[in-house]
Amino acid sequence: MVKQMGFVFNIDLCIGCKACEIACRNENQTVSAVKWRKVSKLTDDTYLSISCNHCSSPECFRVCPENAFTKRGDGIVQINSNLCTGCGLCISACPFGVPQYDPELHKVSKCQMCYPRQDKGFLPACIEACSTGAIGMENLDNFCSREAVSTIPGFPDSRLTNPSIVFYPAKKRKRYFLN
Ligand code: SF4
Ligand code: SF4
Repeated sequence: MVKQMGFVFNIDLCIGCKACEIACRNENQTVSAVKWRKVSKLTDDTYLSISCNHCSSPECFRVCPENAFTKRGDGIVQINSNLCTGCGLCISACPFGVPQYDPELHKVSKCQMCYPRQDKGFLPACIEACSTGAIGMENLDNFCSREAVSTIPGFPDSRLTNPSIVFYPAKKRKRYFLN
């Protein structure tokens, strides 16, 4: 069945604890120079946690001379490390800085949405580790929410690759003042 799975990220729920980043590293046994998921500060009190967006029109896929990238029927963009020569073209092409060069293996790797876990019926490690529920996953072909948006300030221009991620943006917070 062809569909497009993607991440759903709720800015107001993320507390910047990096449990998702750590869970990703543990699950995939990546070396310290390689970050498949990254948490960054957006403003004084908001954070963004992103990994590969498994784009509908992935530039990594288009530029790789070894055809190392494939897109599964569920939309996950995979990279075959056996085919990767570490040339780095995908690193330059991805607008989101996702593909990571591994200095030990001299190859590029990236988030594969934990497809081995998903194939066994488990959620990706980042989603499972997030205690606030800031990260979710949906079939974006069917996803419909009046509050969700396709981009937020600080997220790279999404027109080129059509990334498979949606956001619940930060709501205005109530402020209480003491006289
Ligand atoms: S685990 Fe959840 S709350 Fe913590 S940084 Fe990641 S997304 Fe944010
Ligand atoms: S986010 Fe980058 S690496 Fe991931 S599918 Fe899109 S272009 Fe490729």
